[in-house]
Order: sequence, then structure tokens, then C-alpha cells
Amino acid sequence: MSLLVQKYGGTSVASIDRIKQVAAKVLAARRAGHDLVVVVSAMAGETNRLIALAQQISDLPDEREKDVLLASGEQVSVALLTLALKEAGQPARSFLGHQVRIATDKAYGKARILSIDSTKILQSLKAGEVVVIAGFQGVDEDDNITTLGRGGSDTSAVALAAFLSAQACEIYTDVEGVYTTDPGICPHARKLARISYDEMIELASTGAKVLEIRSVEFAKNFSVPVHVRSTFTDVEGTWLINEEEGMSDVLVSGVACDRNEAKITLLGVPDRPGIAYQILGPIGDANIDVDMIVQNVSHDGLTDFSFTVHRNDFAKAMEILKMVDAHIKSRGVVGDDKIAKVSVVGVGMRSHAGIASTAFRTLAEEGINIQMISTSEIKISIVIDEKYLELAVRVLHKAFELEHAA
Ligand code: ADP
Ligand code: ASP
Ligand code: MG
Repeated sequence: MSLLVQKYGGTSVASIDRIKQVAAKVLAARRAGHDLVVVVSAMAGETNRLIALAQQISDLPDEREKDVLLASGEQVSVALLTLALKEAGQPARSFLGHQVRIATDKAYGKARILSIDSTKILQSLKAGEVVVIAGFQGVDEDDNITTLGRGGSDTSAVALAAFLSAQACEIYTDVEGVYTTDPGICPHARKLARISYDEMIELASTGAKVLEIRSVEFAKNFSVPVHVRSTFTDVEGTWLINEEEGMSDVLVSGVACDRNEAKITLLGVPDRPGIAYQILGPIGDANIDVDMIVQNVSHDGLTDFSFTVHRNDFAKAMEILKMVDAHIKSRGVVGDDKIAKVSVVGVGMRSHAGIASTAFRTLAEEGINIQMISTSEIKISIVIDEKYLELAVRVLHKAFELEHAA
């Protein structure tokens, strides 16, 4: 029998009715002859609710206890889905991350999956059960509960598919696949039949939350066929595949956006060797990821140094930078957490010039000021004022002719 891993996101299990609908989908796959491992997220809104509860107690809640709290959301949904399957006559068994030993490192809130012990899963499958596993959670070597970061159930599912050598990993969500941009922002977004792992990594890392980035990295590294599709329709979704001939004829595959960033600038920094390390070293030590970095040309031996961090880390990063400012005797720190990043992604950029200038001209025509730019081989990211984000997505989507035919 072939083994399928299916993952159902928060909106797909948002109510008892929807959980029953998911159970029916699982049963249909079972009847089609598949063995099934089903990964579920917490019910929609639950993880946010739990975070808000912790924040009523502390601005910076203890990371271990916060993970214990957040992991509870998925515990509820695995139990409910398993009950629904049993009620429909299908043998099924739920497991939490630690029960099947989804082993992670110790980075609370953003733990990485290291290994998965398949013993209990295989036993359960052999007994004819559908195996229902809590997404987003694991356990470290000292048996502490860890969580994988927002959207982490995607990673749980793809990692399970990789470790179990499943035939495919199906990601069921509230849209019909991966689109040329967020269909919630641009009504003309077009569903892609296929997308390369590399493009999806860039889209996911620049804000297309339809897949969590680590899930795509896992899929690429272990060549897991991933099919993103809707819980609410039966239409074919989007397949993630290795880059194929002809793919690079398409200049741009998608536009992504991210409102979760904040910009920090250290003014009048002495321009000498080691200064970037003195600024960013303490940021790294505090476990804060830095995204874009811009260091300007120096005048009179002084330069401005700007970088972006996740908005959740903004307050912490500003505190650290104020100490760095005093230490290296620069001329002050300014921060802006009302910025956003828009990115244009496509493997065709490798072989075609002019994509960047088209993007800059398009934004200029709308009077949108560019604050920072960064590029990779297949991506251009631009930081702008948050209030222009939706407009920027729509005009770039149009400029690169990504719209579906009317
Ligand atoms: P789930 O709860 O199922 O994990 P998410 O909310 O995490 O679902 O991801 C699905 C959402 O991702 C969609 O509703 C859509 O608004 C958003 N999204 C952003 N970019 C894209 C894109 N390029 N293609 C499809 N959906 C996208
Ligand atoms: N429940 C978690 C979240 O909301 C994980 C997930 O949905 O993938 O981020
Ligand atoms: Mg998600």
C-alpha cells in the first residue's frame, strides 16, 4: 500500500463541522487504498489566543513554558480529528510530538527537527489505523516540549513524509494551491500548476505563508513530492518539483510580501574593520535573526548602518542597539516598525536582465519610495512604507504580467 502524509491547517479544522469534513476526506483517501499519516494544526486562532494569554502574564514569557502552552493547541485538534474518524468507523490513533519522538534541538519557539522515530507510527499503520500526529511540536533531548515556529505544522508534515519515505505530502489549506501572489491581496492572482523548490523557498522566506520555509527546505533536501491543495474542493493544486527545462523561460513566478519586519539604523558609525561584528554580534547572541543589511558609503570616516529584523524582535533589538551605540560611540539609533517588504521571485532572473529596473520603475510610477533593496540570484526584495504594501503587490503583479486571463 502507498503511504500518504496529509496536513490540514488551522482554518481546515476551525470547527467541529470542518473537522468532520476533514475526517471524510481522510476516509476517502483511505478507501482509495492509501495508508495515512495525518498532521493537524491547532484550530484557527487558537495559537494566537494562547500567545495572548501568556502575554497577559509577561511581556517576555519564559520560553520553555510558552512552548508547553502553545503545543496544547495541536493536542486538542489531534484528539478531535481522531474521535471523528473513529465515530465514522475508521480505526485511528492520535500522537503528540513526544509520543512518536519528533526529536528537535533546544531552540524553543523555533526548534529544528533532527529525527523522527517511526516505530510506533509503523506499528499503528500495520494495525490498520490512521495515524493522526500533532503538528508544530517536538521534544528535545531532555524531554522538554518544543515548538517549531509559526506555520510549523507544514514542516512536521514534510519531515514525516521524508522520514517515512511517503509517496507524497499533501498540504491541505484554505486556498487551492500556490498562487502568483497572495490571493487575499490580489484578486487577479493565478494558481500555479507547478513551482520549483528553489522558487518556493524564496517565496516562503519572503512572506508567502502558504508554506513555512523549513518545510520547503526539507522537501527539497529529501526530494519529497509536495502537493498544496484545498480542503474545501477536490481540484488539483500546486506541485513542488525540481526545476525543469523551460521553467526559466518565465521571468517572474510570483510576488510575495511581508509586514512582519522592522528596520533599525545606527547613525554615524565609525567606519573601521570589525564594526559590523560589534553591531550584529550582540543581536545574534540574543538569537535575533537579521534579514537585510545595508551599510552606506562613509563620509569623514562615519557611515550609517541599517538592518531589518522580525517585528516581534524589534523592541529587544532596539534595546541592544542602544547599548552598542553607547559602546562604539556612534551618533544614535533610529527604528521604524511600520515598514514592509515586497519581493519578486523567478528562476528566469538568472538569465534575463532588466527585472530589477522594471520593479523600480513600477514603484516609482506609483510614487512609492524604496528604502532598502536586496537581491539574490532569483529574487529582488524591496523595503517600502507599510501603507503602500498592497498597492505595491498589485502593481508589480501586473507589471510582470502574472495576472490570470480575464
Ligand atoms: P494553514 O492554516 O492552512 O496553514 P495559512 O494561513 O498558513 O494556512 O496559509 C494559507 C494562506 O497563505 C492563504 O489563505 C493565503 O492568504 C496566504 N498566501 C500568501 N501567499 C500566497 C501564495 N503565493 N499562494 C497562496 N496563498 C498564499
Ligand atoms: N498552530 C501553529 C501556528 O498557528 C502551527 C501551524 O498552524 O502550522 O503557527
Ligand atoms: Mg500555515
